[in-house]
Amino acid sequence: MFIRVHPWFQVFSSNPMTQALYRGRFAPSPTGPLHFGSLISALGSYLDAKAQGGEWWLRIDDLDPPRVAQGATDAILRALEAYGLAWDGAVQYQRHRSEAYAAALAELQRLGMVYACACSRREIADSSIGRPGAPVYPGTCRAGLAPGKAACALRVDTRGAHVGFEDRLQGTVRQDLEREAGDFIVQRADGLFAYQLAAVVDDSELGVTDIVRGADLLDSTLRQVFLQRLLKLPMPRYLHLPVAVNALGEKLSKQTLAPPLDIAHPQPALVQALSFLNHPPPQALQGAKPQEILAWAVQSWSIARIPAVRSIEPQI
Ligand code: GLU
Repeated sequence: MFIRVHPWFQVFSSNPMTQALYRGRFAPSPTGPLHFGSLISALGSYLDAKAQGGEWWLRIDDLDPPRVAQGATDAILRALEAYGLAWDGAVQYQRHRSEAYAAALAELQRLGMVYACACSRREIADSSIGRPGAPVYPGTCRAGLAPGKAACALRVDTRGAHVGFEDRLQGTVRQDLEREAGDFIVQRADGLFAYQLAAVVDDSELGVTDIVRGADLLDSTLRQVFLQRLLKLPMPRYLHLPVAVNALGEKLSKQTLAPPLDIAHPQPALVQALSFLNHPPPQALQGAKPQEILAWAVQSWSIARIPAVRSIEPQI
């Protein structure tokens, strides 16, 4: 049987033929400790990988130092351990990967797909062609900077880009990127690489075959699919889980003050998260060790049971 081996793996593995046919990952941003919303992504990506005999890697998305909360990375690792979510391989850190991001950006520049933009947030909001609150950059600086303006960010040119993919849960997802998302930033004014670029480079270099994460990232995925196409990187399979929202329809997050996971008593949140994904464990297992609950969940995992919607308000 022929197994496609990713170059990254050839560098790091003495036996490239052990490349997993399924490699998933969980990629939290260390802006705070894990909460119920992030547990759902961790759990969904873990179970989908393990149910298929695959690997589940952990990447810490710490490429934006001002947003990294002190102690958050450690708290995330401890929480995953307490919940029995054991990762494969060494933890990956985006803060060490600037060279790879710079190389991808250089490739986009070589392709003539990137341009400098000097617009302020204000100017973009004023000239936006998108919905209020979700401004779509109208391409003002594509033809060059206005005299006297200094370049700030680098954007990728989305003219004529229609992207789409088949999501394993949400079905066909498509977008006219230029009209609905606009030319998006690949390097910020402060020199930091944008998440969209970093995620695509890292997922491909790690040989990730499957991405399971919250449906709040669907718009990001469309941008990432576009970057994969430009950079000639393989497109992984995608599964976007419903996200947990509060009564106002807001995603549970640090911003909406979702409480951190209780590390000392993981069972209740684990059972709730599994129930949220429509995999409630049998009564007899509810006080069991997290590892036992997870072993049951791996056996029982079926995507057909997960509601094919983008958000759900959990009944807690
Ligand atoms: N770190 C990002 C987040 O937590 C991205 C996750 C991902 O690419 O799955 O939203």
